[in-house]
Amino acid sequence: MSMINTIADPLAKVTARIQQAVAAARRNGETVRLIAVSKTHPANLLAQAYACGQRDFGENYLQEALEKQAELTDLADIVWHFIGPIQSNKTRAIAKNFAWIHSIDREKIAQRLNEQRPDDLPPLQVCLQVNIDDENTKSGVSLAELPALAKVVSQLPRLQLRGLMAVPAAKDNIQQQRAGFAKLHGALVQLQQLGYTVDTLSMGMSGDLEAAIAEGATMVRVGTDIFGARASA
Ligand SMILES: *Cc1c(COP(=O)(O)O)cnc(C)c1O
Repeated sequence: MSMINTIADPLAKVTARIQQAVAAARRNGETVRLIAVSKTHPANLLAQAYACGQRDFGENYLQEALEKQAELTDLADIVWHFIGPIQSNKTRAIAKNFAWIHSIDREKIAQRLNEQRPDDLPPLQVCLQVNIDDENTKSGVSLAELPALAKVVSQLPRLQLRGLMAVPAAKDNIQQQRAGFAKLHGALVQLQQLGYTVDTLSMGMSGDLEAAIAEGATMVRVGTDIFGARASA
């Protein structure tokens, strides 16, 4: 294996972009947590990012994630985030092997994760995925159905409802990007007004993290601009 860390430079660039966006939004003193999205990339690249201080990693596919986790057990303080669609038959392994789940979009999945979260682990930190642009093809709860889902999830003792996540449709310009993220922020504020203690807005990826931070993102999920292009979508 090469001794050259190929992740250090792109990771530093993404970190600088985040800092600039926080400053531009006059959110001085606030931190935006970077989730390094490592789907399709091998464990040795995650280890390189880890060597640079990165601790939060996001994965979309359970089997692939479990294989990498097995290779990286020495890096015990990695925080694993599950950010992909969740099938019922995968909930047990997800509940056991991740600290955060960003992609809960229906009651049945939440119930199963709650039942299957091992007792010796802290509650799962969860975000509800919202289908912010009402796209037929995309997962996520609709804004209309969000309050009902939040109510159910907030009552599950092994899940801690932290906030909202979205993957907006691709937009042409930063104004359009911001409008989508503002909608998600508005939905979070609405939940806060209903009395929920939620503090997390998981929004912004390689192409739109500046717009997301301008609209209040507390976590951005960045893959391509850290690890390079993925071989297939
Ligand atoms: C792949 C993925 C990302 C990262 O996207 P990039 O454009 O590669 O930065 C973020 N969030 C989710 C849910 C993803 O599936």
